[in-house]
Amino acid sequence: MDKLYSLIDKLYSTSHLEKDEYTALIKNHRELSDYLFSLSSKVRDKYYGKSVYLRGLIEFTSYCKNNCLYCGIRCGNKSAERYRLTEKQIMECCETGYNLDFRTFVLQGGEDPYYTDDRICDIVKKIKTTFPDCAVTLSIGEKSEESYRRYFEAGADRYLLRHETANYEHYAKLHPPSLSAKNRQDCLFTLKKIGFQTGAGFMTGSPYQTAENLAEDMLFLEKLQPHMVGIGPFIPHHATPFADMPQGSVELTLFMLGLTRLALPEVLLPATTALGTIHPQGRELALKAGANVVMPNLSPTDVRKKYLLYDNKICTGDESAQCRKCLERRVNAAGFKIVKSRGDHVSVNERKK
Ligand code: SAH
Repeated sequence: MDKLYSLIDKLYSTSHLEKDEYTALIKNHRELSDYLFSLSSKVRDKYYGKSVYLRGLIEFTSYCKNNCLYCGIRCGNKSAERYRLTEKQIMECCETGYNLDFRTFVLQGGEDPYYTDDRICDIVKKIKTTFPDCAVTLSIGEKSEESYRRYFEAGADRYLLRHETANYEHYAKLHPPSLSAKNRQDCLFTLKKIGFQTGAGFMTGSPYQTAENLAEDMLFLEKLQPHMVGIGPFIPHHATPFADMPQGSVELTLFMLGLTRLALPEVLLPATTALGTIHPQGRELALKAGANVVMPNLSPTDVRKKYLLYDNKICTGDESAQCRKCLERRVNAAGFKIVKSRGDHVSVNERKK
């Protein structure tokens, strides 16, 4: 055990471990988590204090051309009800969000060919002109370098694209043959090169995942140096091939958050909705493990149940204002404070804002 504690110290002081070292920690995570979280909160406090940044999530389309085996909105799920928000509806979500102190809007959706680059750029421009003090984050999947450049020029500030799992063979077990880990990882490096604040991330406890795979996720993060990392438990969806697979655990998810905070000290780390779904205090525990971002839902209430990536997703019956208030209470009770700001990564210079 002493050796494992000293590995955590090593990660704390150097932000790097070897694969077998990460693996050893992950395999023994239950015994090590209290110690890890004492250091990961210290690091989060050093860079961000007790401030928690808000992102308003607008789930603008549930159409998807992909067929990821874990995801409830995969094209193969014929029972999923599909919807698209109009530009007007998206702008209304932003308006609501702005009045609730949101200064970042995240447009997330399936890979929906209806939203051509022209349409995405129009929406981004409209939001940036109407709300010039806000950041726009896109989370719309794998695109060409040219498309990413167009979004950036239209004013998009950030892009979320979880790498899902760094290991190529594991990736192939979670995705159809048309998708590859290599292309997804290449997209992430391209996004960073273009100048986006870039978010990678992965699920914990996804089917067939090993401790070695998670160690590879950590090494991938060390190499990519993303600005944001989304980590949440895999949760089965009843109408997918993984319906009967076990869900990821709270403990392992929190442990991976803690490791990520030490490997990337300045990273923006959300307390994810998936974690809040499998544990009533999941997001509060995430903050205590080193997270510093929350992403409440700003989608219109009548579409929320249709953006079901996994079963039992929380907050699908609430109004945006309710979600916002509930989260504020939770964040405060955990000893943190929501701040009204774009919440950029500390490395972002003032000029780009
Ligand atoms: N089309 C976009 C958005 C995908 S949905 C893209 O390709 O990036 C956002 C994230 O939800 C995914 O990256 C995945 O990590 C997560 N997700 C999907 N299905 C899930 C499930 N069953 N359990 C937990 N997380 C899931």
